Amino acid sequence: MEIKDITFAYQDNIKRLHNIAAEIAIGKITTILGPNGSGKSTLLGVLTNNLAPQQGSVILEGKTIDKYKPKELAKKLGVVHQQNSAPHDMTVEKLVYYGRLPHKKPFNQHGEEDDAKVKWALERVGLYERRHTPMDALSGGQQQRVWIAMALAQDTPYLFLDEPTSNLDIFYQYEIMELVKELCEEENLTIVMVLHDINQAIQYSHEIITMKDGEIIAHGVPEEIITVQLMQEVYNVNVVIKQDPELGMYMVPIGI
Ligand code: ADP
Ligand code: MG
Repeated sequence: MEIKDITFAYQDNIKRLHNIAAEIAIGKITTILGPNGSGKSTLLGVLTNNLAPQQGSVILEGKTIDKYKPKELAKKLGVVHQQNSAPHDMTVEKLVYYGRLPHKKPFNQHGEEDDAKVKWALERVGLYERRHTPMDALSGGQQQRVWIAMALAQDTPYLFLDEPTSNLDIFYQYEIMELVKELCEEENLTIVMVLHDINQAIQYSHEIITMKDGEIIAHGVPEEIITVQLMQEVYNVNVVIKQDPELGMYMVPIGI
């Protein structure tokens, strides 16, 4: 996926993305980092054709994304948004079936392939046994896994996750990050996600994009781009960066 010189403003005409250009690595995990309001969700919106840029384009498999029919694009790109809510009595399985909509023919009930994909998605996130449970009876971490299952049932090569671990305790954060890693390694998904936890980003990403004020400040392999200077520039925080023989690189904030 190629991002070509994107400029974007909402209705208020204030530019929120400035000349964003990048290439998303296929079959890898790319994480977008940056302060609140730096344009991360806006960029995901543009990459998934939910927001139309004033300038520039996003090219997917040789074609600009706004040239795809909605159903065709929905077979390519799965998205889990930052905030999600389901009707309180909706069951897990019913929600995940919504992921099959792009694959449906008009007036068709779900067929064998839909059933198989929904089962696979629920097994993949470890919630098949809970398929008849109403959403509001699940924990936050389990609900997040259902939303991911819905995107998986959509059966797309690309998966976009906006802050999938925010609001989750460390147990569920770990579970989600391991799931993301497995999905990339075992299902060959290209994953683009927004995270707040810099150490999580270093640990799980093949590439990191850092943003500030609607611009990309750095893009590359975590070990190469995450530096004391970059953290100062992007977050206005002083950090120390450590190297652990087993854990690899991590950073600790020590001052502002
Ligand atoms: P992030 O995800 O990095 O926290 P966002 O992409 O949500 O940042 O927001 C980037 C900027 O765009 C912020 O200044 C935010 O207030 C603004 N913004 C976000 N959504 C809208 C909207 N619908 N209308 C106008 N401004 C918006
Ligand atoms: Mg956001």
